[in-house]
Amino acid sequence: MLTSKLEVLVEFGSKVDGPLLDKTLNELKSQDGVKEAVFKDGAIVVETTLPSTVVLDMVSRASGKRAVLQGFGETQSAVSMISSQSCCRNSVMGVIRFQQTAEGPLVADGCIDGLSTGLHGLHVHEVGDLSQGCDSIGAHYNPSNTVHGGPNDPPDKRHAGDLGNIVADETGRATFRIVDNVLKVWDIIGRSVAVTEKRDDLGKGPNPESKVDGDSGTSVACGIIARSAGVFQNPKRICACDGVVVWDEKDRPLAGKGRREGKRCCEKEK
Ligand SMILES: [Zn+2]
Repeated sequence: MLTSKLEVLVEFGSKVDGPLLDKTLNELKSQDGVKEAVFKDGAIVVETTLPSTVVLDMVSRASGKRAVLQGFGETQSAVSMISSQSCCRNSVMGVIRFQQTAEGPLVADGCIDGLSTGLHGLHVHEVGDLSQGCDSIGAHYNPSNTVHGGPNDPPDKRHAGDLGNIVADETGRATFRIVDNVLKVWDIIGRSVAVTEKRDDLGKGPNPESKVDGDSGTSVACGIIARSAGVFQNPKRICACDGVVVWDEKDRPLAGKGRREGKRCCEKEK
């Protein structure tokens, strides 16, 4: 199966504990879905078919230290921070990473919090315009002018942006890694990605909307897709978004308590 390379920073401190590092690498290598784990230039590089969130949890468990994802993919990568684009309803939030593999397919790897339990559609949309929140991102990205479908349908029976469904567990978290044969990273940078309120019927449903958007309802969260760092392309150790070091960022949940409350902004919106 198609693997991805993840560059993981572990909070070993100034001097790396050799035996602990060896134990961590050995534990990683013994896991299903991990093909290789090596220590290189201060980071653990994991070659895997697992979602990055699952790998980060494994590294933290094996090492007893905090771990963050520093780079993803070896060639061209992109990332989207998705949210409901409204300070007053910021309950759904997540990160989706896109990696162009050397073999051809694209990998979409993500973790989204705050969803209702069950299936939700995931789609790349035409434009990266958030001026009206998720209402201004256009239709599903559809350069071949075809009908809506599912990710396993042939290119003339699906929109290029149709990534199918993701599943949220009982805590509202969806962790996923999708391998897609149609989308390319360079075609989607500057566009947007959205998760829908309902399940995508993959074009097989009875309603007319089924052939348009899988009858998947409104977008509950979306974000612009931007170019991002691959493995060893990002030397920085401080998050530019709010100036905290990566280790502080790791302890903040994506949504809800502990994250910026956005109260003032919300009052302004009202
Ligand atoms: Zn579609």
